[in-house]
Amino acid sequence: MFDVIIIGAGIGGLVTATQLAAKGVKVLVLERYLIPGGSAGYFQHQGYTFDVGASMIFGFGKKGTTNLLTRALDAVNVHLETIPDPVQIHYHLPDNLDIKVDQNYEKFLQNLIAYFPHEEKGIRKFYNECQKIFNCLNSIELLSLEELGYVMRVFWQNPLACLGLAQYLPQNVGDIARKYIKDPLLLKFIDIECYCWSVVPANMTPMINAGMVFSDRHYGGVNYPQGGVGKIAQKLAEGLEKCGGKIEYQARVTKIITKQGKAIGVQLATGEVYHAKKIVSNATRWDTFEKLLPKEQIPPNEKNWQQRYQKSPSFLSLHLGLEASVLSQGTECHHIILEDWEKMESAAGTMFVSIPTLLDSSLAPTGYHIIHAFTPAWISDWQGMSAKEYNYKKEQAAGEIIERLERIFPGLDAVLDYMEVGTPLTHRRFLGRVDGTYGPIPRRKLRGLLGMPFNRTAIPNLYCVGDSTFPGQGLNAVAFSGFACAHRIAVDLGF
Ligand SMILES: Cc1cc2nc3c(=O)[nH]c(=O)nc-3n(C[C@H](O)[C@H](O)[C@H](O)COP(=O)(O)OP(=O)(O)OC[C@H]3O[C@@H](n4cnc5c(N)ncnc54)[C@H](O)[C@@H]3O)c2cc1C
Repeated sequence: MFDVIIIGAGIGGLVTATQLAAKGVKVLVLERYLIPGGSAGYFQHQGYTFDVGASMIFGFGKKGTTNLLTRALDAVNVHLETIPDPVQIHYHLPDNLDIKVDQNYEKFLQNLIAYFPHEEKGIRKFYNECQKIFNCLNSIELLSLEELGYVMRVFWQNPLACLGLAQYLPQNVGDIARKYIKDPLLLKFIDIECYCWSVVPANMTPMINAGMVFSDRHYGGVNYPQGGVGKIAQKLAEGLEKCGGKIEYQARVTKIITKQGKAIGVQLATGEVYHAKKIVSNATRWDTFEKLLPKEQIPPNEKNWQQRYQKSPSFLSLHLGLEASVLSQGTECHHIILEDWEKMESAAGTMFVSIPTLLDSSLAPTGYHIIHAFTPAWISDWQGMSAKEYNYKKEQAAGEIIERLERIFPGLDAVLDYMEVGTPLTHRRFLGRVDGTYGPIPRRKLRGLLGMPFNRTAIPNLYCVGDSTFPGQGLNAVAFSGFACAHRIAVDLGF
């Protein structure tokens, strides 16, 4: 019998598993796919290694407490080389805004102030306030807020940081930005600064998350794992096994088994049954409560949560291999492209572009680069078609993305060597996420992060981890959720 079974080897699941295994807890991870990583996985074709999702990675800093990926690997004695990215994002925006977010804070501020000199004071006040939040977070150990002993301990160790954080917990970015900034175009820039990782505008983006993202990029920085993002999960899985944990692939859980209302085990698609004292789901909340448990067992608080949060769109992804000569010297790794502010939140509106071979050339054959370009897309727009219609729609969508890329990287179309198109159906299939969603987003303006659930659920012995839990999407965020989940379970098990 295992102490803990974890459904899913995404980064959230793996951080929970490694943290527990490092404490001597007997852990089994069951992953439905062939490799670990989930949305931080990879695929290889014709000599190219592509990240399926994430490629702008926070959490690999060397100091402070918010470098959770570094800490998660260290905990199980594995190491991963990373490559610092000097510019987090190069924005190509309407109204001729061409802004680079430099790793150096002052350089970034100067880039922005050059467009909005009349707002210099407001810009500095807004981003400095984000830094205040980050400094609070970065001065305390990040564990489970559901564990009173820990909460009291950090409070006594650092009361000012804790009070600072508590003050920001119910706040959203839009309200704070508008306190300091009046220029409507600059406020739109703050909107896309949020949208490109929270997929909602500033008004709906929790201030705590913004404090992390807008500050850590200038502190620990954005760092790319040598060999591709897939290496993070591979290393965590290696560390898990080193510590005595077990991981099984092609092990799709179809049911969470309960007895007298408590979770006691899981059943696989093969019919195999495993029992454990605690069950953790790294699947999304929708997958966990609507697919793995019978309808009558969905706790009322999950229904309330669904009234506050909805599924974000999925993505239409284009993975390209192309001759390196087409990218000019100094091209940045990450780009955001938007031609019309009105379309920021629309399907096929904001385009995200990553070119990780600019940092790690080993991901492509010599003389070639890879590009991952993706735009939000709803699964409903890709269903109910014949194979012919589906393929035609894919071709059309790919053509539109390439046309937009051509404006930034002229000549790209002529030097393409490889192309793979992923639709929301592809994301659903390979990432095992309902509707291929990127994760939960607020249905309306909520009180910051207060509505995001922690790791315990209303079903005794069942926990959730990953981007459907506090503090939300992103690799460092789900690593946070993994640290918190493991901490809560270790206390519950008496470790
Ligand atoms: C296109 C894209 C780009 C992104 N870009 C970035 C970025 O640049 N930076 C960043 O930090 N974040 C980015 N993200 C977000 C980030 O990748 C996710 O927030 C994070 O990886 C989610 O991790 P998770 O552990 O919550 O879940 P997941 O990654 O979804 O992992 C869950 C795992 O559980 C498995 N599973 C599900 N159901 C079952 C079952 N029934 N039985 C067994 N196994 C199961 C799945 O196969 C999967 O491996 C991006 C995401 C996408 C899709």
